[in-house]
Amino acid sequence: MTSKKKEIDIPKIYNAKEHEDRIYQEWENGGFFNPEKNIAQGSTSIDAPSFTIMMPPPNVTGVLHLGHALENSLMDVMTRFQRMRGKRTLLVPGTDHAAVPTQARVEKDLMAQGMKNPRKELGREKLLEIIRDYVEKSKATILSQIRKLGTSCDWSRLAYTFDESRSKTVNTIFKKMYDDGLIYRGYRTVNWSVAGQCTHSEDELVNIEREAKLYTFKYSEDFPIPIATTRPETKLGDTAVAVHPDDERYKKYIGQSFTVNFCESKFFEIKIIGDSEVDPNFGTGALGVTPAHSQIDFDLKERHDLLLIQVIGKDGNMTEEAGEDYQGLSVETAREKVVQFLRENNLLINEEDTKQIVGTSERFGDVIEVIPMEQWFVNMKKEIPGRKKNLQQLMREAVAIGHNGDEKQKIILSPNGFEKRYFRWIDNIRDWCISRQIWWGHQIPVWYCENKCQPIVSPEKPKECSHCKNTTFQRDPDTLDTWFSSATWTFSTLGWPDKKADLNVYHPTSWIQMGYEIFFLWMARMILMSTYILDEIPFRNVYFHGLLRDKNGQKFSKSLRNNLDPLEMIEKYGTDALRMSMLMGVSPGNDMKFYEEKVEHYQHFVNKLWNISRYILISVKEIKLIAQIPEGNSKDDKVILLLLQKIINEVTESIENYEFSRAGEILYDFTWHDFADWYIEVAKIEKEKDDILLYVLQTLLKLWHPYMPFVTEKIWEFFDAPQKLIVQKWITTKELSLKDNLDIARVKIRKEIVKNIRSARRDFNIPVSIILGLRVRDFGEIFLIEEDMKIISKFARVEETLFVLGENEMHITLSPVAGKLLYLTMPTNIDFTKEKERINKEIKNLEDYTLGLANKLGNESFVKNAKPEIVEETQKKKEDVDRKLALLKKQLKQIN
Ligand SMILES: [Zn+2]
Repeated sequence: MTSKKKEIDIPKIYNAKEHEDRIYQEWENGGFFNPEKNIAQGSTSIDAPSFTIMMPPPNVTGVLHLGHALENSLMDVMTRFQRMRGKRTLLVPGTDHAAVPTQARVEKDLMAQGMKNPRKELGREKLLEIIRDYVEKSKATILSQIRKLGTSCDWSRLAYTFDESRSKTVNTIFKKMYDDGLIYRGYRTVNWSVAGQCTHSEDELVNIEREAKLYTFKYSEDFPIPIATTRPETKLGDTAVAVHPDDERYKKYIGQSFTVNFCESKFFEIKIIGDSEVDPNFGTGALGVTPAHSQIDFDLKERHDLLLIQVIGKDGNMTEEAGEDYQGLSVETAREKVVQFLRENNLLINEEDTKQIVGTSERFGDVIEVIPMEQWFVNMKKEIPGRKKNLQQLMREAVAIGHNGDEKQKIILSPNGFEKRYFRWIDNIRDWCISRQIWWGHQIPVWYCENKCQPIVSPEKPKECSHCKNTTFQRDPDTLDTWFSSATWTFSTLGWPDKKADLNVYHPTSWIQMGYEIFFLWMARMILMSTYILDEIPFRNVYFHGLLRDKNGQKFSKSLRNNLDPLEMIEKYGTDALRMSMLMGVSPGNDMKFYEEKVEHYQHFVNKLWNISRYILISVKEIKLIAQIPEGNSKDDKVILLLLQKIINEVTESIENYEFSRAGEILYDFTWHDFADWYIEVAKIEKEKDDILLYVLQTLLKLWHPYMPFVTEKIWEFFDAPQKLIVQKWITTKELSLKDNLDIARVKIRKEIVKNIRSARRDFNIPVSIILGLRVRDFGEIFLIEEDMKIISKFARVEETLFVLGENEMHITLSPVAGKLLYLTMPTNIDFTKEKERINKEIKNLEDYTLGLANKLGNESFVKNAKPEIVEETQKKKEDVDRKLALLKKQLKQIN
């Protein structure tokens, strides 16, 4: 395909804003994000292997943040790369109804408008309607923002965790699990957030350390075993004391019961039990058992058939069961009162300051209370009918150990080593509490008949109870944990349970990326659902990205005011620059620094690519597509083409191994240093290289496309190609021969020599008008042949390259290349005396300066009292000056 060269007018500055929205619209309208349309358009084939990614659905009420920018950059690089390799590539977008935060957000707004208790005042239906309206309004925001990032997802398959398809999926699975005996309702302890008025799973808690007091006491004067606690008020709910059965101090008391009291009105029984789980060396070696307010103690209650007394209520205050002296008190007041009682009755043995770890609500921030409640659970350890395994086993078997390629049907986690954490978590897994006491979400599909018969599982209201024929029902008011629905994400988005076509082609999905904070919340539960429902893993590869941190290594947060808005970055620097700054430096599992200058730097690079292209497009005789690798004439032609092949192999391999940063660095280096700084300069001298220039450029556009989709597509438009760049075929090459690699090495050495000579000219202020001599020691013929010398002399303005250094030749020593010594000789009329003086003077100045800085940093009161940024800045300044000093001293040594 050729187009006659017409005058083209390409501005010197690439203006991202002029092109990005239009290009995205054209991709979307052209159907390029949809794998079926790509088959129809012939850019891939019906029998091509599939490549699928499910987008972790962002919260429907959220706005785009840096984390989304990172995740979308990662997903879209993979998606575009695989699409260009001809796979049937599908990236499914979606949003999450984010039950707890969404309802909390709306309730907070309503309360700000003066409502005291929205749930009470509005009732279920009305409140849900308000939330639904709110969600509909905000939904469009996040979706349009994802488009801004250039993410090539198939919008025709857009899913929502709370739409009709998901409702059907969730209800179907709930029924299947219930019928399989895996879902049960139980009165058990749960993690309760008083502030949020709802339960939390273990994984929704954030552990924090806080100051506390440890009280050691006896329940009564005649009680033989002392107990230690940080929460004396919960002791009103104690029903036993557990000791190790072999503990010589206490074993004689096992089986005895004592009646004790913590006030006039509250008498209760404490039974002494033996349990081998108790650590006799911890604390007093005895454990006050509070079954209602501790998960461990609840388990003890189950084993020893103890009583359960709930003394803290859902409102966070003491209950009636705590006794009339305590009822209604806050836990803090009750604590003081119990301690007071112990003190007055000489029961308090010791009181000391301590630190304790407590679980807090990730969402609401309050300290979690453990309380007993009627809840729905998924049983992890019960055998699944017909499978001879339980859910815990299914989840364990799904993950490969390390990066073992033999385990083809298993999931591989990156970085290597994460699977150990996973297995540890699986080994300690508890039953999953799936009910939540909020209204926004999938309501539990369970109905209770008036006569309290067996509950009926059904998404619709049952006609009549099969036991008592009653027709009046109450639906369970609770909703399902959000993760119950997002756990079905890999297959419910592909049509399960109704349609099979997409599932057959696109499941298991190929790759998924996520932050490690949802490792258990989401990844593990997707594994549970997929292996249970489909007997198939949900994805083959999981990539965990780290966190983005600011320049000082701190997390981005509103309170630190260090937040950067990705949309603002796009507005200022363009999407390609933002994507580049997300991908360069990224590696699985590791946190990465992100700052505005980084985006700015990559904007320069986007513009560099634009200018390279501009130069080529303007200077070639004819703008055309080059389909075959052109024949090169000179050594440089051959080497640039070989080098290109080499980097194609390296880039392809790196992306395949999720080394996105490495692939980008290889490409960056080639584009800037090999192609622009070197080959294009050679081409200016040697001329007649249109085909090679065009070929290398077109190949580079393809290689860069997954990273910088917009600018590459825009440049591609100048070629009037029949198909857009987004669906161009990725280039494959053969491995290079030994000779090829030697040729590349030679040119690299030559380049290095030129670079060193140029920088020596800069350092010593030697103008290009002065021609220098080069002395190279011990290079054999292999590396530098006459052709190389010619190029070196042209580029670095040297002549007379010799392999020995004359005894009296005045010279500068260059940095060695490939381990060999190089000298630059000067004509005798250059006088370095002045230069030496200048350098010596500068050294003196800098030495004084660095001494001042060192004194400052050595001053304790400065380091202690100055702001940390100032100290850091001083430190940095000193490092800079020291570096400069070292360089000057080296220069001085180089002159001979
Ligand atoms: Zn009934």
